[in-house]
Amino acid sequence: MPKPHIPLEEIRAQVEGCRRCPLADGRTQTVFGVGNPSARVLIVGEAPGKNEDLQGEPFVGAAGKYLNELLAIAGLRREDVFIANVLKCRSPGNRDPRPEEIELCTPYLREQTRTIDPEFIVTLGNFSTKFILKTEIGITRLHGTLQRAGRFKVFPIFHPAAALYDGSKREALENDFATLGQPLRESDAAAASAQTGGAAAAPAGPGTVGASATPAGAGAGAAQTEPRPDPASHVEQPHLL
Ligand code: SF4
Repeated sequence: MPKPHIPLEEIRAQVEGCRRCPLADGRTQTVFGVGNPSARVLIVGEAPGKNEDLQGEPFVGAAGKYLNELLAIAGLRREDVFIANVLKCRSPGNRDPRPEEIELCTPYLREQTRTIDPEFIVTLGNFSTKFILKTEIGITRLHGTLQRAGRFKVFPIFHPAAALYDGSKREALENDFATLGQPLRESDAAAASAQTGGAAAAPAGPGTVGASATPAGAGAGAAQTEPRPDPASHVEQPHLL
């Protein structure tokens, strides 16, 4: 029998009291995540930064403003999605998450994902992509391609913070969010068609979006530096979220 979903507020309370790893000692507060509790799109970043730690919300400040612009490119509003991180506490000096921290913290993300039950998971950067897809393939190769983890459609994209420091990533990021808009629109059309009893639109699926898809007004994969993998064949599956 499937495990019952834990209400988000219950998971939030668990996170607020969590001291499983040493990051608890340096935090101002935990950053649980924010957004539509039954969002069709779950955005997963890496860990809270300085502003997020102070405000208790992911993607605030310049990175948050830029994320809102990127979401708009895909036809999404911030209030439509749920935004969470792999780690719920800030690391000292924003260093990379350590494997043991990821292992200790990700049960919360797993439960959030089960409860929200999104159709799409957008992974931002290496850490969330590797965790969600259970792969060692880096974001440079996977970004902009539709993948699958269990029943979830997964779309890896560079972390927006990377573009704030490295302008060359901006074009790739914006292209990827434009590309993400395509399966979202296809899914909308399929849902509308199912509601009206009409002929079903072609559903989005792994392999249908990727290096060959050209988003409106943008050349796909312009900043790509490595050959792109076949989206269906390089990721270990299935993943037990
Ligand atoms: S990072 Fe995660 S596991 Fe570590 S103390 Fe914070 S909530 Fe707990």
